[in-house]
Amino acid sequence: MTAPSIAPTALLPVVGAHARVPLVDGGETRYTNLDYAASAPALAAVAGHVGEVLAHYASVHRGAGYLSRVCTALYEDARAAVSAFVGARPDDVVVFTRNTTDAFGLLASAAPVEAVLLDIEHHANLLPWQRRGDRVVTAEPTIAATLEALEAELIRRPAALVTVTGASNVTGERLPLDVLAALAHRHGARLAVDGAQLAPHRPIDLAATGVDYLAFSGHKLYAPYGAGVLVGRRDWLDAAEPYLAGGGAVREVTVERTAWAPAPARHEAGTPNVVGVAALARACRELAALAPGALEAHERHLRDRLVDGLADLCIAPLRIWSDSVDAVGLVAFTVAGVPAGKVAAYLSAEHGIGVRDGRFCAHPLLDRLGVPAAVRVSFGVGSTTEDVDRLLSALSSLSEQGP
Ligand code: PLP
Repeated sequence: MTAPSIAPTALLPVVGAHARVPLVDGGETRYTNLDYAASAPALAAVAGHVGEVLAHYASVHRGAGYLSRVCTALYEDARAAVSAFVGARPDDVVVFTRNTTDAFGLLASAAPVEAVLLDIEHHANLLPWQRRGDRVVTAEPTIAATLEALEAELIRRPAALVTVTGASNVTGERLPLDVLAALAHRHGARLAVDGAQLAPHRPIDLAATGVDYLAFSGHKLYAPYGAGVLVGRRDWLDAAEPYLAGGGAVREVTVERTAWAPAPARHEAGTPNVVGVAALARACRELAALAPGALEAHERHLRDRLVDGLADLCIAPLRIWSDSVDAVGLVAFTVAGVPAGKVAAYLSAEHGIGVRDGRFCAHPLLDRLGVPAAVRVSFGVGSTTEDVDRLLSALSSLSEQGP
């Protein structure tokens, strides 16, 4: 493996970067978090902001008190932070949800029939459409062929919506959103993008790319669990039945009937997650303040180092499930003859390294790849070359021990 060329500095400080964890031999070590794709650790700035929000905690929306107005402003201003972060059009609407899964549940309840999606989707962007009976197109080995297959399906039978992942949570591969949006629009459809794995890694510009809807989760974007977003075109969201019926989503209620508010309030019934939303907004602002290209360069460096290092290991046959040079900061691999669960458990118990194993809520994709389960390593702004090297060193001890 090549020698480190840069110091193992993270791009932004995260909480828990120095946490100590127990090892199977009774010792302890620094936790090496290589599971950012599942839930990324909070940015230190976000954690600080959560403390400030809690210090000003009061009722939200209809409270007349000073702190209630502070909380309401925090919540409503968060929409502007999200809009700016994703380059939303002025008339797009930002609806706060619990997470990406919730955002797709909402979109699937609001979008007219029919939708078309790919079989590489995370279950969050598969199951709501499957339940409606929408159509699934099999992704092809190349992006160009996948686009052709999608277009052929839209020609065969028009659809209202094409809904695809912006970056796969299994391979890290990205789809060309501007090309997809143009393709969808050519056939009278809109484009929705699952940004759960894209938003934490790459800039997104809805206006420039033509993407109509985008969903993502705060907990993958260096904010706490519990807040997510659906952002996009207003008309479907204004016309749809409220996702959840209750207070806050209404204009006027009598015993007999309700006049619903327009979006976003229409789909945000009940007391909202002000802390989660304010944290999500702060994370958007922190990421947007990074120098252009810095995050991508950081993750590319780590990913290249990992991929090269894995190739140099004497574990044969180890297979990496993506050869895209443009993938976001995650790598899934399998070691023939060693169950993925065993690799992940070994890394945790003996080296304090956290990775993910399994089928990553993308069962159809894993089935098509013929992989019962894989190990996924993922990183982000708090990751360092030292983290990657620790993993490689642990894996080389595994290969010495044998399966
Ligand atoms: N989409 C992708 C690509 C994901 O990786 C995930 C989570 O792993 C989701 C959607 C679902 O996110 P959440 O669990 O926050 O709803």
